[in-house]
Amino acid sequence: KSLLAQQYARIMQWSDQYSRLKVRTNADTPEDAAVARSYGAMGIGLCRTEHMFFAEERIAAMREMILSSSLEEREKALAKLLPYQRADFKGIFSAMEGLAVTVRLLDPPLHEFLPHEEAQIEELAKAFGKTSQYVHKKMDDLKEFNPMLGHRGCRLGVTYPEITAMQTRAIIEAAAELLKEGKKVFPEIMVPLVGHFKELANQAKVIRETADAVMKEKGIKVEYALGTMIEVPRAAVTADEIAEHAEFFSFGTNDLTQMTSGFSRDDSEHYLPYYIEKGIYPQNPFQVFDWEGVGKLVEIAIEKGRKTNPKIKLGVCGEHGGDPASIGYCHRVGLDYVSCSPYRVPIARLAAAQAALA
Ligand code: PEP
Ligand code: MG
Repeated sequence: KSLLAQQYARIMQWSDQYSRLKVRTNADTPEDAAVARSYGAMGIGLCRTEHMFFAEERIAAMREMILSSSLEEREKALAKLLPYQRADFKGIFSAMEGLAVTVRLLDPPLHEFLPHEEAQIEELAKAFGKTSQYVHKKMDDLKEFNPMLGHRGCRLGVTYPEITAMQTRAIIEAAAELLKEGKKVFPEIMVPLVGHFKELANQAKVIRETADAVMKEKGIKVEYALGTMIEVPRAAVTADEIAEHAEFFSFGTNDLTQMTSGFSRDDSEHYLPYYIEKGIYPQNPFQVFDWEGVGKLVEIAIEKGRKTNPKIKLGVCGEHGGDPASIGYCHRVGLDYVSCSPYRVPIARLAAAQAALA
């Protein structure tokens, strides 16, 4: 090891000695997980599952599921996705062996998985024995003016519990297989975009029933945690009710910032710079946490969540989890961990230590 590498390793070791906040990573491939681990990530705080469905062999099954006209057809398509998901989770759990991995259930609106060009739509219709009018009708049904506020997150799971069941089955089957090989795995199943405790209760029922069935089939007990993202303002102000159904909260500060401030995540770059120039907002709130505004909701959620469930684990998995100034805030309000992209893990570890020392 070079002198520089030795010094770096020593500084990082000191950092971890002083910090209270744990640093996890946002990763959805075994490769990213391995990179983050080599940088000292202490688990995965957010594994987004949506990217897993875009590979060529999978997108066809995904589209078949979306174009289905009955539960039976949807389940047939989801059964094709199950082995891929099981392998995805096995790979990630193995890369993170011995550490917790938070897997978030499917989040984006389903139209994101469909093609939009006419030629591709016709091809899709042909591939699944449908007419292009049928595909267009499905696309019209799925169309939304603001997809980030629409039929996404747990709302998909409420409408199509079979998607939640397939992903849960894949997670628990992957964990069961690895446990039988003597590996240590700690899956955490995270429900996105919850705003009402009944949404979480609804999804928790599907998750628990599916997990119990898989454990019975496999003859092995898998310890897993069930929790939710707090990324909708309503969830923050009703966190006491939500905490009755959750073992952890992970603050999705990207969506929480969008919904609290009313700035779109996708197109605020057209006007936010003027706001910052005029000093209305000191920094871009999507990059540096807005603790005076969004932060108040986080504080309310922490207090209410802990009141109902004193043992609840609390983290942040939005972009702010990798921003040093925001990490200082996360420390001060008493979160347990931050989760950031793999390459920001070392900076986050340093920031966590600096916050503790300060
Ligand atoms: C968030 O909203 O902060 C989050 C982490 O989820 P995503 O960015 O995938 O919506
Ligand atoms: Mg989100």
